Amino acid sequence: MVERTLVMVKPDAVGGGHVGDVIGRFEAAGLAIRALKMVWLDRREAEEFYQVHRERPFFAGLTQFMSSGPIVAMVLEGPGAIAKVRQLMGATDPAKAEPGTIRKAFAANIEQNAVHGSDSPESAAYEIPYFFGALEQHAYRRTG
Ligand code: UDP
Ligand code: MG
Repeated sequence: MVERTLVMVKPDAVGGGHVGDVIGRFEAAGLAIRALKMVWLDRREAEEFYQVHRERPFFAGLTQFMSSGPIVAMVLEGPGAIAKVRQLMGATDPAKAEPGTIRKAFAANIEQNAVHGSDSPESAAYEIPYFFGALEQHAYRRTG
């Protein structure tokens, strides 16, 4: 099934100069970039994006981190895009991430872990319109 997923290159990976590498991995995996932009979230915007985690002990640290610098947000599309992106990302904790994954390569710790990807169609349905309107999303077929 063709799916869409919301991906962010997080502030640590933007600052580390890994934007191109991260996006390149998704393109190399055959995903189509349906939308793309750089955004610097303020604290309230980070809290709203991650509201599903508001009761978690890491919420304050996470939202502080996610508003500490710009992120690159994108919508990726393709068959099984949600699971495919999660596989390319690796485990939340880079210490547990599989070799060859983005988090294994670039994440410093469980909080500053380089990348976000929607975890389900329901999450994607909340997260995509959080960043992108209809006129910012472009459907096309990958030919390469
Ligand atoms: N996070 C954290 N400490 C934790 C778990 C998660 O700081 O113990 C942060 C981390 O940046 C993670 C984000 O909160 O990516 C959202 O957590 P989630 O469990 O949804 O992980 P993900 O879906 O990003 O792998
Ligand atoms: Mg998650």
